[in-house]
Amino acid sequence: MIEKSATQMAAALQSGELTSVELTKAHLARIDEVDDKVKAFLHVDKEGALKQAENVDARRKAGEKLSPLAGVPLALKDVMVQKGIPTTCGSKMLEGWRPPYDSTVVARLKSAGIIILGKTNMDEFAMGSSTENSACFPTHNPWDLTRIPGGSGGGSSAALAAFEAPLAIGTDTGGSIRQPAAVTGTVGVKPTYGGVSRYGLVAFSSSLDQAGPCARNVLDAAYLHEVIGGYDPLDSTSINAPLPPLVQAAKNASVTGMKIGVIKELQGEGYQAGVLKRFNEGLEELAKLGAEIVEVSCPNFEYALAAYYLIAPSECSSNLARFDAMRYGIRTGEGSAEEVMNATRELGFGKEVKRRIILGTYALSSGYYDAYYGSAQKVRTLISRDFEQAFTKADVLVSPTAPTTAFKIGEKSNDPIAMYLNDIATIPTNLAGVCGISIPSGLAEEDGLPAGFQIMAGAMKDDLLYQVGAALEAALLSKWGAPILSGAPKLGAK
Ligand code: GLN
Repeated sequence: MIEKSATQMAAALQSGELTSVELTKAHLARIDEVDDKVKAFLHVDKEGALKQAENVDARRKAGEKLSPLAGVPLALKDVMVQKGIPTTCGSKMLEGWRPPYDSTVVARLKSAGIIILGKTNMDEFAMGSSTENSACFPTHNPWDLTRIPGGSGGGSSAALAAFEAPLAIGTDTGGSIRQPAAVTGTVGVKPTYGGVSRYGLVAFSSSLDQAGPCARNVLDAAYLHEVIGGYDPLDSTSINAPLPPLVQAAKNASVTGMKIGVIKELQGEGYQAGVLKRFNEGLEELAKLGAEIVEVSCPNFEYALAAYYLIAPSECSSNLARFDAMRYGIRTGEGSAEEVMNATRELGFGKEVKRRIILGTYALSSGYYDAYYGSAQKVRTLISRDFEQAFTKADVLVSPTAPTTAFKIGEKSNDPIAMYLNDIATIPTNLAGVCGISIPSGLAEEDGLPAGFQIMAGAMKDDLLYQVGAALEAALLSKWGAPILSGAPKLGAK
């Protein structure tokens, strides 16, 4: 049962074939069995999960009409606050903190009856592409335990690929949902900015952060997106408009007559041959299904990475100023307020977080503000215009999600630039506030590891991601078969 899709699990719950307590126990047993190897979870809330499951079962028995995913378990990225449950963001700084409230995403999951199994590992404060920046431990890719599961949401994707949970929540500031999805052979969606509430999501870079659904297939992600998405008055950047019909779009799964734009700048040099091969085969499948493939150029994407690494650190230097030893987080040291603050931030933050705070503080300092932060914001506008132009020529845009398959743990941890380059294809979407999905495109020939196919659509056109994604997924499934396209067939078999 744990290898089925969330939608199939939900159907088994609805028909009475299975109870949520049984389903939750099966996943908790799987976590017990494999998580000492995968290390996807920072905290497993056995008691809480079983209580939620009992509650859903009782409500179902009483004949209550429940939401479609009621009783299905989920793994939650540890950047999202959940009342009473440790929330660390993978940082020493928040060790021991139990939030006094639920984030909007958690509140919506709970009211849909989705069972929260626990909190998943991540790069500290969501800064990274490999989950190696977690202050706790690295997470291992279920396809090959010596490799990274992507980042920053590697814990959530690894949990899906290892069948520890059928659904997960991630957050994507520059690629942290889509790149982990790509390298673990799972599905991840970065919704339109403002499409899913950020209330209770610990801030990294507020103008880029976006929570979204992770799953093992497109339809499951659409159902989850409908649960968590939509207007929230508690988030001032939340879009006050109804979500487009996502589940319906995933079920529609048609690309006939659509124009699919291949972004010229997001391929070629730096992309692994096997990843490009699977990407091009994906394009062929779309063409066979009746889509027209066109090439589009987004010349300013070349500067996206540079702009991102000024904007994201700038916002992070400001957001993380709250960890001042007085209001939030741990406190250590003695002496003046400043000495205590210094000692606390020295102990509480890891190397990458410090690097970003220093970079961001510098970029925002007077005398440099216009040259760095100001210029980066202008580049951001140019990137949005590239998207606008491209969307006049195509309904959706496509690229490989990440330039390579999963690399070895430790391979890039001392080379920040090499690490940053993982998000070269995902960052433009965040800078422009538009939406994107990664779906598995198959295994790369050189290493037998999963590769990702990215589909991007305009703001509030998230339905197109599901429509095209589901069509491509169905075509690739018939080509490759289920074990290849839905989670690691044998844990760590490689
Ligand atoms: N890897 C990128 C970074 O380190 C993106 C992270 C994210 O999306 N949270 O900033």
